[in-house]
This record gives sequence, structure tokens and C-alpha cells, in this order.
Amino acid sequence: MADRQIGDLERILLRIDGRGYRAYRDAKGRFRFAEGLLCIDHVQGDPFATPSRIRVRIDQSKAKIPRSIFDTPVSRMALEDYLARRVDDRLRKRGHSNSGTGKSGLVSIDSGGQEVIERTALSVTENWVEARLEVGLPAAGRRVLGRQAVQLLTQYLRQLALDSLVFSPEFADRARAWVACIENQESMRRQLRDRGLVCFVADASVLPRSSGVSDRPLASNSLVAFQSPPSLRVSLKLAHPVAHPYKGETEISGMGIPAGVTLIIGGGYHGKSTLLRAIERGVYPHVPNDGREYVVTDPDTVKVRAEDRRGIEKVDISPFIRDLPDGQSTVQFSTEEASGSTSQAAAIVESMESEARVLLMDEDTSVTNFMMRDARMQRLVSKSNEPITPLVDRIREISESHQVSTMLVMGGSGDYLDVADTVLMMRNYEVSDETAAARRIAAAMPNARANESPEPFPTIRPRIPDARSVYPFTNRGRVRIDVPSIDSLRFGNETIDLRCLEQLTDRSQIRAVGWAIQFAARQFMGDDVSISRLLDELEKLMNTHGVASLSPFWRAGDNAPHPGNLARPRRHEIAAALNRLRSLRVSSGST
Ligand code: ADP
Ligand code: MG
Repeated sequence: MADRQIGDLERILLRIDGRGYRAYRDAKGRFRFAEGLLCIDHVQGDPFATPSRIRVRIDQSKAKIPRSIFDTPVSRMALEDYLARRVDDRLRKRGHSNSGTGKSGLVSIDSGGQEVIERTALSVTENWVEARLEVGLPAAGRRVLGRQAVQLLTQYLRQLALDSLVFSPEFADRARAWVACIENQESMRRQLRDRGLVCFVADASVLPRSSGVSDRPLASNSLVAFQSPPSLRVSLKLAHPVAHPYKGETEISGMGIPAGVTLIIGGGYHGKSTLLRAIERGVYPHVPNDGREYVVTDPDTVKVRAEDRRGIEKVDISPFIRDLPDGQSTVQFSTEEASGSTSQAAAIVESMESEARVLLMDEDTSVTNFMMRDARMQRLVSKSNEPITPLVDRIREISESHQVSTMLVMGGSGDYLDVADTVLMMRNYEVSDETAAARRIAAAMPNARANESPEPFPTIRPRIPDARSVYPFTNRGRVRIDVPSIDSLRFGNETIDLRCLEQLTDRSQIRAVGWAIQFAARQFMGDDVSISRLLDELEKLMNTHGVASLSPFWRAGDNAPHPGNLARPRRHEIAAALNRLRSLRVSSGST
């Protein structure tokens, strides 16, 4: 349909004033105003339902955002992130202006938390800049409040867009600084592999968060800013000079952790898990002043943990577990209810299948019998009665023959001193490099335990998902993909438990995981298509068309409707969610 004028929208809204809420459907469509376009793509069913999806667009002839600040995928993603937050700031200043029943008058944008990742909330092109909003259309009871709707849609949203999206000198400086910070992080991340590093933690970083429920930096007198031990200090090049506390330098110094096996030891409450968490989040860029913005980690770093009771579908956990008492094979191990050790073993193998290059594990979320078995216990319980080959006997192989590095927080077992390349110690929130001391101790006190790994760690066998087992429909035949809570995903009739996926960022990312799985099942799954192939295809799709292309509403070109709120997931979280779908069935492919 051809675009109408904003005046037409005004007339429609006044005409339906006082009518039943469904009359708002007449307002669907695209309406031009002098500087841009307002698109009402989806109208909520009633005042309490999920808000309506509305886009407001400003033409570049008015917005005048210079092409030079969004001419690469990273700068564009960063600029879009910045602009979404600007819109959000304006919305917050407006406050909760609820002028009627239910969600009447509420306006929101999905602008994200401390991480900066590609989102559908805002889009910049050479021709326009567009905010994708959720708007509660005003109602009194179940009646349309037409006059309020005119004010909200034709005046407020337009002014909101003009205020937050039109370029000005003040805006330009802040936007450039924001984009530069994100570009720095991504360029630092790209330097890691060439330097043989798995992560980098800049000096002066602020790692702890203000509380268990807040992701903001700790601001307190007791804060200890990060300082690299001299032996591990390296410098990475910056794409743009950074300000405080790095004094406009073009290099940034900090701790570089080399590939291989790294152990983080130290007493309880000395900051071990805080360091590991900062590293696990370092797969994503962070907002300026997060404190962890210059903590960068290899993008294929996966946090692995025990998760008893999850389902497992034909995963080869035999490198860790074999000869179960019930005689079940562990080469294609399936269970409806995993134990701590089988779940942790499966998580490692699944992460290797999704092509992780670094695995992170924390004693706080690992199971002891999977991590270690000391010499005395080996003597008491003979190997023939113990199905588990502990990680300590596999970790070097994983690093050497599979090129997968590991970082472990382990305060309690000296057995790992023999297998670690790097040993870091946390003491009063300060890191020291104890690698040499650990070697001395390992040499002076030879370990009496025997290595238990019976045969080489096998190559990871590809698994081929059966598309029919990945079923997004409910009993009533409708696709249902939604996010009932921050750590679950509803997929058809099933609710996937995502509590143990610590690297998920937010609900929009989970929603995108759901659509990615659905998309893969519909488009890519087939006779010989392994999980890692599916992940490659999904990444290719997102690299070409953006995360929006996962949306069921997406189409190519300038006229796609509001895609819904999505944020780009990593391949590892897509795989992990698929692996937790209890209906999943796979067959094994040829290696
Ligand atoms: P561990 O894993 O060694 O037991 P945690 O990492 O859980 O210790 O940290 C214990 C507490 O110390 C947490 O409340 C955390 O926020 C705080 N903390 C961690 N690092 C720092 C730091 N650099 N400065 C101040 N407090 C910190
Ligand atoms: Mg801890």
C-alpha cells in the first residue's frame, strides 16, 4: 500500500475515538511526516496485551548522520546501540506516563544492558535512521482514546525521534566516542589469536559488580582496580586513543593469558570467580565505563558447568565416562536426567562440537568427582569400579591435540599444578603469576596419582539433528517462540531451561536463539547437515542480513516491518539451547 500522510492517521484516530479497542486496527499502515515516516506494523489485541509494534523513521536528509561513523559492521552496530540508548534515555526522562487502562501510553525500546551487541531496536542506513518501539495504544477500559493516541503517535513519537536521532555537534562527539570505544574492543579482540592469547584484562579495569543482581560496576572504597602481574603484562594496539585512565595512549597494557591450560587459585572470597566472570563476559563488547570494556576474550570462549537433570541426546562422553553400572554405552550417551558429572562431560563435548576454542570452568559450578580423583582415592576405588576419567587427566590432551584452551578456577586441588601452563593466584583481589612456584612445588612433591586416560581423546563425532524433532508448534498448530523468563525459552510445547547458560545476555537474545533454531529446522536441517554446519549457516545468514533476518516478519529491502526485539546470539548459545531441547533427536554423521 502507498504511504499515507500523518494527517490521515490523525483523522483515523479521531474517527475511532470511543470505539472498541479493535478499531485501532484501522490505524495500521505507513504514514509520512515532513522529516520521516511512522509505521504502525502490529496492533495489540487489547490494552493489556503485548504492546503494539511501531517504527519511527527520520530521513537522512534531516538526520544527517555522517556515513563515516557507520561505514563498517562494527561501527554501525556500535552507533545503532548508542542511538537506541539515546532514545531510551529520552523515554526514561519522560517517565511513566500511563494515561489510561493497561499499557496505555507506555513507550519502550529494547536498548540493552552492559553488553553491546547487534539488536533490532534501531537501524541506520544511508537513507534513514529508524527506532523500533513498543507502544501501548491508549484506552479507557476497552475503548479507544483517540485524542490521546493522536498526541502520542503523531506528536510525541515524532518529537522523540527528532530529539534523539538528528545529528548535532554535541551528539556527534558522544556518538564518536562511543563508537571508538567499541571499535577498540573489537580490534583488541582480533589481536588475541595472533598473539597466542585467549584473553586480555586491561590494567585499571573494574571487574566486580555492584551486587549479585546488578551488572553495573562496583563503586566502593574497597574496590581494587585490576593490575597485571609484570610477567604477563602485554600491550595491545588501539584503533583510537582512549581517555581516562589510559591518558590518550594508542596502546593499552594489561594481563595477557596465553593459550593452554590456565589455573586460577587462591583463597575463598579473594576474587577468583569475579575474574572468571569478567573473562566469560569478555566475548562481548561493553559500554564505555562498564569497567570491563577493555577485558576482551576469544569470541569462541564457552563457560561450562555441571547441570544435573538436563537431557542429553547421543553425545559421546566416553573420553570422560565409560563402563556405567547399567551397561549403557557412553559413545552415544542419551539421558532424560543427567547427573552432575555426565552433564559436565556432555557440556564440554557439545562445546567442542560448536567449535569452542576456550573452555571456562569454576569450582563453584563444577562437580568434584568430574574434576579430580586423588592418589588415595585411586588406591581405594580401583579404576575398574570408577566410570569417570577426571578432567585433570584429559585437560592437556584437549589443549594439545584439540587446540582447545581451558581456564579453571580451582582452589582445592594441587593435582592440577602438574598440568597447568599458567597458574594465577588471587590474593586480596590482586593477581600474581605463580607459574614458577607451582612448577617448583610439583617437582619437589611428585604426585602419586596415576593418569587414568585409557585411550586418546577421540575426534568429535558430528551429530545430525532430525528436523521433525525440532518442532516450534503448539498443540493448536501455532508457532510459539517466546521468553517467559530471563532464563528460559518456550519452543512449541516445550520450555527449555537456560539457567546454566551464563553467557546469555538478555531476553531479546534468547528470543533470537529461539527463532534461530526454528529457522535452522525449517531451512537448513537435512540429511547430512551437522550441528556445526547449521551454526555456520546461521552465522552466514546473520552476517549478511543481520539478526533481524531471523524474525518471522523479516523481508529484504527497505519496507520490512518491525522485526520484534532480537539481539544477536553466539553460535555456542544457539547450540546449547538446541542441546537442551528435550525433543531433540539426532543421528550420527560420518566423521
Ligand atoms: P572467590 O571466587 O575467590 O571466592 P569472588 O570472586 O566470589 O571470590 O569474590 C568475593 C567478593 O569479593 C565478591 O563480593 C566480589 O564482588 C568482591 N570482589 C571481587 N573482586 C573485587 C575487587 N577487585 N575489588 C573489590 N571487591 C571485589
Ligand atoms: Mg568463587
